[in-house]
Amino acid sequence: MKSWSTPAPRALPVQPDRLRVFDTATQALRHPGNDARTASLYVCGITPYDATHLGHATTYVSFDLLQRYWLAAGLEVAYTQNVTDVDDPLLERAEAMGVDWRELAREQTDLFRSDMEALNVLAPDHYVGATEAIDLVVRAVEAMLEGGTAYRVPGTDGEPDGDVYFDSAAAQARGGWTLGSVSAMDRAQMEEVFPERGGDPGRPGKRDPLDPLLWRVHREGEPAWDGGALGSGRPGWHIECSAIAREHLPAPFTVQGGGSDLRFPHHEFSAAHATAVDGRPLAHTFLHSGMVALDGQKMSKSLGNLELVSRLRARGVEPVAIRAAILDRHYRSDWEWSEDLLTAAEERVARWRSALDGPHADAGAAVLAAAHTALSEDLDAPAALRVLDTWADGTLDGLSATAEPLPVADVVDALLGLRLR
Ligand code: ZN
Repeated sequence: MKSWSTPAPRALPVQPDRLRVFDTATQALRHPGNDARTASLYVCGITPYDATHLGHATTYVSFDLLQRYWLAAGLEVAYTQNVTDVDDPLLERAEAMGVDWRELAREQTDLFRSDMEALNVLAPDHYVGATEAIDLVVRAVEAMLEGGTAYRVPGTDGEPDGDVYFDSAAAQARGGWTLGSVSAMDRAQMEEVFPERGGDPGRPGKRDPLDPLLWRVHREGEPAWDGGALGSGRPGWHIECSAIAREHLPAPFTVQGGGSDLRFPHHEFSAAHATAVDGRPLAHTFLHSGMVALDGQKMSKSLGNLELVSRLRARGVEPVAIRAAILDRHYRSDWEWSEDLLTAAEERVARWRSALDGPHADAGAAVLAAAHTALSEDLDAPAALRVLDTWADGTLDGLSATAEPLPVADVVDALLGLRLR
């Protein structure tokens, strides 16, 4: 699928890679790394039916910051993102709206791309739709059936024969993954969130209520693809990301990212599936961004309390102010969007802009060193923004010690993705 297009950031003087981030799987700060020269990132993409609300924007801006940190540390970054362009929520939404699901997916994906460009989010190298990954999914599910880590469920009232599920117990017996090893949740927590996040614990014939769907055989009125020996049908959600990541990134890749609502079951089972297929871990480190609330509740289509990037843009709000408002909250914290936050961000951007006309406009080296150091500690963007405030005040250390002038505007664009000019 066509990705979007964001200008490549200016190459900066290389900074030391001292990054430590909070890994959900180990519940500890750690350096996410396979080697000193490359890094690889997979961020779960949208299901294109409510793009792009500020919860989405926060996720992609947060992981964009990670990519920009790595680039500033001189690493080569490989980045893949998916689009879940066929799944129950999309089909249900399209039906409720009386539109073709493909049309809704296309239109919402286009909107998402334009919002990402506006927010200066660097594009992934591979942007892959679920509908483009059917063959990858079929091969992975076949491998799991052969390896005994997947099983077919017989039909019951109203459900046809042949849906394929992941066998969590068999996969654990095989080794390399245990239930909870990615999400760091206990069984009671998993059982609580599973039905809220697309799981079907009550489906008769499953060996464990938490076993997730791998392949859903065709039902009347639903889209379906040729699944070879699996029969006509469509992929489950977790295997989609698992198969796409395996195809386009190293095994394991460096960071699996997404919103904190993806910890379980999505990231738990994406990782489990990959290991069940080839014995290797999916990712080195698992990072989760916080949830964004509006009017006291998590922003979601079902609650109807969405603020959309496109709506703000249509109102004339500058994307750089939206980005600055997002970066002023630590990526792991849950927070609430408000007009006050936006106003504060607009005022801050104006202050930084006026400082670009002041005597320290070329003190980029000092800003870069201080902001990169701030980001090294679990991507502390609020601290990096405070570096800009200190620079604008003229009180940042090292402002006068710039042997080579480096425009602050270029540093801020490249490292933080804030386009001040
Ligand atoms: Zn995913």
